[in-house]
Amino acid sequence: MRCIGCGVHIQTEDETKLGYAPPSALEKEEIICQRCFRLKHYNEIQDVSLTDDDFLKILHEIGQSEALVVKLVDIFDFNGSWLPGLHRFVGNNPILLVGNKVDLLPKSVKYPKLIQWMKQSAKELGLKPIDVCLISAAKGIGMQRVMEAIEQYRDGKNVYVVGCTNVGKSTFINRMIREVTGEGNVITTSYFPGTTLDMIEIPLDDGAAIYDTPGIINHQQMAHFVDKKDLKTITPKREIHPKVYQLNEQQTLFFGGLARLDYVKGGRRSFVCYFANDLLIHRTKREHADELYEKQLGELLQPPKKSDADTFPPLVAHSFTIKEAKTDIVFSGLGWVTCNEPGAQVIAYVPKGVNVLLRKSLI
Ligand code: GDP
Repeated sequence: MRCIGCGVHIQTEDETKLGYAPPSALEKEEIICQRCFRLKHYNEIQDVSLTDDDFLKILHEIGQSEALVVKLVDIFDFNGSWLPGLHRFVGNNPILLVGNKVDLLPKSVKYPKLIQWMKQSAKELGLKPIDVCLISAAKGIGMQRVMEAIEQYRDGKNVYVVGCTNVGKSTFINRMIREVTGEGNVITTSYFPGTTLDMIEIPLDDGAAIYDTPGIINHQQMAHFVDKKDLKTITPKREIHPKVYQLNEQQTLFFGGLARLDYVKGGRRSFVCYFANDLLIHRTKREHADELYEKQLGELLQPPKKSDADTFPPLVAHSFTIKEAKTDIVFSGLGWVTCNEPGAQVIAYVPKGVNVLLRKSLI
C-alpha cells in the first residue's frame, strides 16, 4: 500500500515515522500519508530526509538492472543540482540528461546553444549522456520531445528518473502522467526540497515502467538557509530579467543579505546579474560593505528577514580572478553574475556550506 502523493509505503503504527496514515485513511480509495496530507492541505512541511546511504542503495539497484536513466537537472541551478558520480553507479545504462525550468531563462536564449553548453558541461563533469533535452515541466515546454526521446532510448526497458530534490522531478512525472493518462496532480510537489520519497511506479504499455526515485538532498542549496517565505523570494517563478550593473573597482553588490560580490580590480566594467526578479540587489562602496551588512542584515538587506538575521550563518569569502571572457560567477541555488571580459578580480561571499564557482557562461 503506497501513498498516492509521495509513493511511500503506508504504515499506521508510528506517527513519527515515514508513511504514517491514521487508520481511518485506509478506508479511502486513494490513500495519502499524513505528511502529504499536511503538505497538500496546509502547505506545511514535515521534516524527513533520505540519507545519502539510502540514495546510494537506490542508485546501486539501478546499476544492477538494464534501464534508461533520465537525469533531471535544474537549469537555473545546474551545478548545484548535478548529482556528482552518477555515472559510476548506473553501470552501462544510458543516461538521458534533461534540463528543467527552461522557462526561467530569458526568451532570447537559443535552445541549441544551451543544449551544446549542457553537453560540454556534462563532459567536463565526467558524464556522456546519450542525448540532452530541455523542458519546463511546469509550463509543459519540450514535453513531447522528451517523451519521444525516452521512448526511443529505453528500447522496451524500464526507466528511472533521478535528480536531486527540488529539480522539479515530481512536476515532471505529474506532467508525464497527465500527458499519458489525462490525470491531474497525483504526486506531491512543493517549494521545499526533499518532499518526494520512495519510488513511484508508472506502468507503461509494454509491461515496463517509469520509476520516480526519491531525490537526494543537495546540502549546498541556498534553500536550506532561508525560511519558507524567503524561499519564495529567491526561487524564480517567471522569466528572469537580467540586471546590468556598471561597476567601478572597489564596489560591492549585495544580493539581499544572502550573498555578496566585491569587485576588487579590473577597471570599470559591466556585470550582468541573473537572479529571481524579486531579489533586491543593493550596490555600495566596498569600504562600507561590512558595516552595512552588520547594520542592515534583515532590514535593507533581506532575505533573511529580521527574526532570522541573528541565526543566519556568517558569509564566507571566495576570491577569484576571471581569466576567460564570458564567465559566470555562480552562487549555488541563488543565481549567477556574468562577466563578459577577462581580467576582473572579485570576491564572492556566501553562507558557509553554499557553493560558489566559475563556469563558462550559460547565456
Ligand atoms: P522535486 O523535489 O524534484 O520533486 O521538485 P518539485 O516537482 O516539487 O518542484 C520543486 C519546485 O520547482 C516547485 O516549486 C515547482 O513549482 C518548481 N518547478 C518545477 N518545474 C518547474 C519548471 O519547469 N519551471 C519552474 N519555473 N519551476 C518549476
